[in-house]
Amino acid sequence: MRAGVAGERYGVGQTAGVDLSLGDDLRAFVDASPSPSHAAAEIARRLEAGGFRRLAETAVWDLSPGDAVFTVRGASVVAVRVGSDPVAEAGLRIIGAHTDSPTFRVRPRYDVRQAGYRLVGVEPYGGGLWHTWLDRELTVAGRLALRGGTTVLAKLPGAPLRLPSLAIHLDRSVREGLTLDPQRHLQPVWGSELSTEPGLLQALASTAGVDAADIVGHDLVLADTQPAARAGVDGTWIAAPRLDDLACCHSGLLALLGVSAETRHTQVLVCNDHEEVGSGSASGARGSFLEDVISRLAGSEPQAFARTIAASKLVSADMAHAVHPTRSERHEPSHQPVLGGGPVLKLNANQAYATDAVSGGWFTERCQEAGVPVQHFVSRADLPCGSTIGPLTATRLGLSTVDVGAPQLAMHSVRELCSAVDVPLMKAAFVSCLRG
Ligand SMILES: [Zn+2]
Repeated sequence: MRAGVAGERYGVGQTAGVDLSLGDDLRAFVDASPSPSHAAAEIARRLEAGGFRRLAETAVWDLSPGDAVFTVRGASVVAVRVGSDPVAEAGLRIIGAHTDSPTFRVRPRYDVRQAGYRLVGVEPYGGGLWHTWLDRELTVAGRLALRGGTTVLAKLPGAPLRLPSLAIHLDRSVREGLTLDPQRHLQPVWGSELSTEPGLLQALASTAGVDAADIVGHDLVLADTQPAARAGVDGTWIAAPRLDDLACCHSGLLALLGVSAETRHTQVLVCNDHEEVGSGSASGARGSFLEDVISRLAGSEPQAFARTIAASKLVSADMAHAVHPTRSERHEPSHQPVLGGGPVLKLNANQAYATDAVSGGWFTERCQEAGVPVQHFVSRADLPCGSTIGPLTATRLGLSTVDVGAPQLAMHSVRELCSAVDVPLMKAAFVSCLRG
């Protein structure tokens, strides 16, 4: 399944031997997903196109082997393909990822006017590299809650918002390092105070084809508008916003849609919102969403849920740090994943990652079956380790969990970098996990 060999050399534009089509599809997926709500809708759209049926959480679910269904809670999605064996016996094969990325969320009273400008009041969401958002073409995207309880997606066309840098002539201390106060310095401008354009919600309402008077709430975030692009000398890299963790949502989705329909195990894809802010929400990994779906799949027999959990495997898929070209000393010297080198198995002695001998060994075996190489990531002993949905889901449900990810650079920048070579490798690894 390996589409290309890391380190193999190609001339510019000569990418023979490397299948970039799935990388191009990842770019389309990212471009269609400027907000977590859009990502959930794009996942749902692709699932429906692949024959999956949408079920409401309020409905009674009556599932049979071969059924392919999904349900949506907020900006989170759980998709299920029911296997031939009872889940309490065969267990579940679950791929988990997250739909959200660091950004800025629009405040309820967003219409700020100062220094002759109209600004949009926003609040940082997650731990972004905020300086990378300066001088970028930005927009607003997300969902609008309408009178009566429905929601609609909305995104402003063009690139109406901007966070301009301060000229160096007005603050030469920037040479010693840029300090940004999110309350004062990170409020995007979108016009002159003299502009007679309508307000933000009016503009969003007209693009969404709804009446602004019907909007009763919103989940709106800033998004970079530059489309994802091929990058690097041979065009095999992907420069894009929100790769963490849309790239893993995408690979998981490709795997679930691509795996053969006849399967013994029931296969699950869960894409949670709110990972970047700790996952503590109804739709986050610390909430009940996955557990609620598993209890429906397990059935009513008293021990079925516990037996299902005991027989299941969770692959927690969140992007991993490839070694940095000029800052390699920040990596543990013996563990330096490379772009295009395949899935990264993440381990941490202090359980910031949920991988253990058994779950990591199981994942490694699945990759070997698929002919996919495995890289390893551990933090330096003198640096703190990030975390992800794996340990949270494992803690809540007791699932055997392995933390993995595709290698990338510039994590949490507004513009991240990964390799298209890893997309088919991640897909192949996940297909093997869903079968195994
Ligand atoms: Zn992530």
